[in-house]
Amino acid sequence: MKKLTSVILVLLMVLSLVPFGASAADSPEIRNVIFMIGDGMGTNHLEWAKAETGEKLAMDEMPVKGFRVTDSLTGLTDSAAGGTALACGLLAFNSNVGTMSVSLDGHAFVVLNYVNLCEASQKAGKKTGVVTSDSNTGATPATFSAHAARRSYADIISAQQLECGLDLLWTRADGIITESTATKAGWTYIDKLSEIYDLPANSKSLAQFSGKIEYDDGDENGAPLSVLTSLAISQLDGSDNGFFLMVEGAHIDKYSHANEKDDMVKSLIEFDKAVEEAVKFAKMDENTMVIVTADHETGGIVYDSGAKEWKFTVGDHTAADVPLRVYGDEGMLKDGETLKNVAVARYVAKATGLSGIPSFSLNIFVVIDFFKALGDLISAKLKGE
Ligand SMILES: [Zn+2]
Repeated sequence: MKKLTSVILVLLMVLSLVPFGASAADSPEIRNVIFMIGDGMGTNHLEWAKAETGEKLAMDEMPVKGFRVTDSLTGLTDSAAGGTALACGLLAFNSNVGTMSVSLDGHAFVVLNYVNLCEASQKAGKKTGVVTSDSNTGATPATFSAHAARRSYADIISAQQLECGLDLLWTRADGIITESTATKAGWTYIDKLSEIYDLPANSKSLAQFSGKIEYDDGDENGAPLSVLTSLAISQLDGSDNGFFLMVEGAHIDKYSHANEKDDMVKSLIEFDKAVEEAVKFAKMDENTMVIVTADHETGGIVYDSGAKEWKFTVGDHTAADVPLRVYGDEGMLKDGETLKNVAVARYVAKATGLSGIPSFSLNIFVVIDFFKALGDLISAKLKGE
């Protein structure tokens, strides 16, 4: 029954996309996009961080403030399906990265590869970058740089990222990409923040930090997200066709899963500083759009009016709508409006004149894998296993 539902969902997706493909805007005024994702960041995360620190947030100063729903094809979303909707403007099954895939008795196979915003931007001659406090194979960065049937396929994701055409990929180290594999694939490899300052213009850089990115803990192997954001903008700025940069604060989610308030707040404040850097650049540049949102809410944060305090109520994701803040292009949403999950990527494509969002291609290789899986299943049945 589950399989039948999956197949019907695939068919519905395909039918709903005929005809598909966003038409390019006539004359886009927006050249650069800085797309900022606070993983797991619900509206109440912002309120709790403000109550805890007494600080104002740069996110609150952005001119347009609305919300986004965070559904997936299989209900309550995870970061893979959430990231896919943000990166590709199409809904996906949970735990699938940048694809539309279904599985047959544990044999995962890709049916469709969704085009993501980095790919569409590269096709338009833009520079592209991905910066995250997570490792490169984390679900959110992966949806902007790879296609895999499962978010756990770290080797497949890493191999694709080495060849994905990004100009920079700055993340936490996960041990899969090494200095030698990165260098062989043509990247300038970095593992210390100080090395980024010495990067020559137009270099393709892959950074793998062994220390924290989510906030500054004084470790020289770390690299605070706000500093990386401002350096990434400097690296990408100045090309003729503009740039697309995705920045993720992954640890708002991770610390919310663990219900660790102090670290969640520190990560959120660091993410907000990164937003401040992005908006500062956009104000100066005047052709840059900054979008801040989340893939889903984590932790079910509520205000307990009896105890007069904020608190986590769960250790997992919730279906709560998430904040959506925009600077630089007020056409995306009206103040207080709630957009569909897939609307942001589609709007970004339209505003910057990208074609191919939303669209997809058939993944032949893994369809072959499907027949292999089917063959295995039949021979197992014939053998009476
Ligand atoms: Zn999560």
